[in-house]
Amino acid sequence: MKDTTIPGVSFHSFGEGKMGPLIRAHDWSKTSLGPMKDWPNSLKTHVNMMLALPSAAIIFWGEDQVQIYNDAYSVIMGPRHPRHLGSTFQECWPEAYPIIDHWMKRVTINGEVVIVDRSLIPLTRHGFNEECYFTFTFSPLRNEEGKIEGLLQLVTEVTDTILSERRLDMLRKLSPSTDLESCSTTNLLDVLASNPRDIRFAQFFLHNGAPSPLQLAEGFGIGNQINKAPGYSEFMMLARDTYASGVPREIKNIQNLIPHAPIEPWDEPTTQAIVLPIRSNDLASSKGVVVFGISPRLKFDKNYYSFLLDAARELAIGMEADEQINRSMKTRKAYDFVNAIIENVPHMIFIKDAKELKFTRINRAGEELLGLTRDELCGKSDYDFFSKEEADFFTEKDRTTLASHKILDIPEEKIQTRLKGTRILHTKKVTLYDENGQPEFLMGISEDITEKKQFEEDHKKLSQEKIARAEAEKALILRDEFISIAAHELNTPLTALKMQIYLIRNFMVEMESERTQKFLEMMRNSEEKLNQFAKLVENLLEVSRARAGKLIIEKTEIDLCEIIHRVCKNCEHELLKAKCRLELHLETSVKGYWDPVRIEQVLTNLLSNAMKYGSGKSIEIVCKREINRAIIMVKDHGIGIAKEDQDRIFNRFERAVSMRAFGGFGLGLYITKQIVNAHGGEIRVESELGRGSTFIVELPLKS
Ligand code: ADP
Repeated sequence: MKDTTIPGVSFHSFGEGKMGPLIRAHDWSKTSLGPMKDWPNSLKTHVNMMLALPSAAIIFWGEDQVQIYNDAYSVIMGPRHPRHLGSTFQECWPEAYPIIDHWMKRVTINGEVVIVDRSLIPLTRHGFNEECYFTFTFSPLRNEEGKIEGLLQLVTEVTDTILSERRLDMLRKLSPSTDLESCSTTNLLDVLASNPRDIRFAQFFLHNGAPSPLQLAEGFGIGNQINKAPGYSEFMMLARDTYASGVPREIKNIQNLIPHAPIEPWDEPTTQAIVLPIRSNDLASSKGVVVFGISPRLKFDKNYYSFLLDAARELAIGMEADEQINRSMKTRKAYDFVNAIIENVPHMIFIKDAKELKFTRINRAGEELLGLTRDELCGKSDYDFFSKEEADFFTEKDRTTLASHKILDIPEEKIQTRLKGTRILHTKKVTLYDENGQPEFLMGISEDITEKKQFEEDHKKLSQEKIARAEAEKALILRDEFISIAAHELNTPLTALKMQIYLIRNFMVEMESERTQKFLEMMRNSEEKLNQFAKLVENLLEVSRARAGKLIIEKTEIDLCEIIHRVCKNCEHELLKAKCRLELHLETSVKGYWDPVRIEQVLTNLLSNAMKYGSGKSIEIVCKREINRAIIMVKDHGIGIAKEDQDRIFNRFERAVSMRAFGGFGLGLYITKQIVNAHGGEIRVESELGRGSTFIVELPLKS
């Protein structure tokens, strides 16, 4: 330790550094402190102590806070040193004064010791407003009288610590191993945007797959209309250049290329940017490039540059991780998708191993169809469940499929199931190969077509029946047409023949020889047969009219009782011949709107049948009127009709007696029913075999 003597002031040489001589040489008379020789001892002591301190220290003395600092502090002063030795605090630090002044007042007024930790104190040390952080203490300095005359500030600059801490924090957040939900570019950008003091903006240029060119992608802080900016093509070119060469590029004039508003917390424009490839050491090619906006408040030094390189590397790792997650999610999704299809398909899907043809998988529909669970089935072969014959069949088809390299289509195969009995399946079988092209599995898809087959067969049967019915119907129509034509053709000569017989008979009646009489008798018989034949022809004509819907009904007001009287009169001769006594039970008059000719036809038919099937017995005819209808009953006491025949005798050509016993063609009742129905009425029979029959006709009075 050596004593250095300046007139009136003695400084210890120990630790006074470069600032000791400077302080001594300084002209203090121009300051409020006055020449050094007049300084109070207390100040001299404080200065001595301050110069000896290893950390940055400064003394502010007097009302206007004139500053005296040590070597370490001269670094903090930057270009202000040594100009501002002896300046007032306010002159020297106009940018820091508003931040610090209130703390200084607490020291000078209250005598407090103020400790400020890691505070941002922007300083202009290198020609720009720099982002600096300090930890400092202010302590009061007293004069000889014990009055606070000044203060001592001990300062530690923590800018480097703070920068490296926050940069590390950001890099950690970018890393895919942290709690980042996903490493999508959006999430990565959010992390970058959370550190706007280092990353003023970020802009990605990515490519979607190798062959596609680099594309402008997401970004923040540089506006969202980059592609419309004047320097966009140059910007793009720089990006593509870095992508192609892998060499980072600095952009000095980014504000000219892509004008953009500054983002918080700084309001200076960002002028400098760097284009970096997004690439990690493990990656063969880069994912694209990122352009980082460099802070105007920080020196773009080695640390800053390597931090940005690290960030670009982390981005590459994050993006790769994200792609991997997406890829595995896609695979997982594809697997789930296929699985869902297999499980929900309504057809049986089974898989067997190609070597032993043992089941390795079966879906839900398969379990239901076979009545076997997958646990029961897997690891077993067809021979464990099906008859030898069935298992042989299935195995033979499996082997053919495995040998053929084609899909085998088995349109129908029968299978005995546990719960559903015999089922018919339509099965397709296909070989699944391993990576070496060797058959690994056999997959079968079987549709249960049992019901479909049944339906097809029923449908076929039904169609055949339909065709047969249609053909029968056609034959009937043809027959009806034939009958109609034949009847017409027969009617004309028949009428002429009857007339000729009538004339001949009249002529021959005059001749009385026995031979003539015999001949006349023969003629009468023939005439009767001819009449029957004419009746048949007439009936056939009526039937064909009825079937063709051409039965003409001409209604007029008539009295049924009158018609009954007329019919009975017409039949007098036949009644006599049949030896039938007729009883009429008629109301005085039963009037209604009916076709008189047709109603007469109905009554004639019923009365003729009563005489034919009840000859020798009495016949009763009843006619009465009920609320809205007229009732006619024709009752005989003849052979009667069996129950089972009572409906069908109203159909065409239906008879309940033999031809030999009773002549006839089974058409009379059919025509009768058609006429009654055409009037809106009904006809039925009440009868018992051997006990006579009653035919009941009901006619609406007006229809
Ligand atoms: P047809 O008398 O010419 O055979 P119908 O159509 O008039 O034809 O009668 C059909 C069948 O109904 C007859 O063959 C007969 O078996 C039965 N039938 C009709 N009327 C009577 C009746 N009054 N008594 C018994 N059977 C009858």
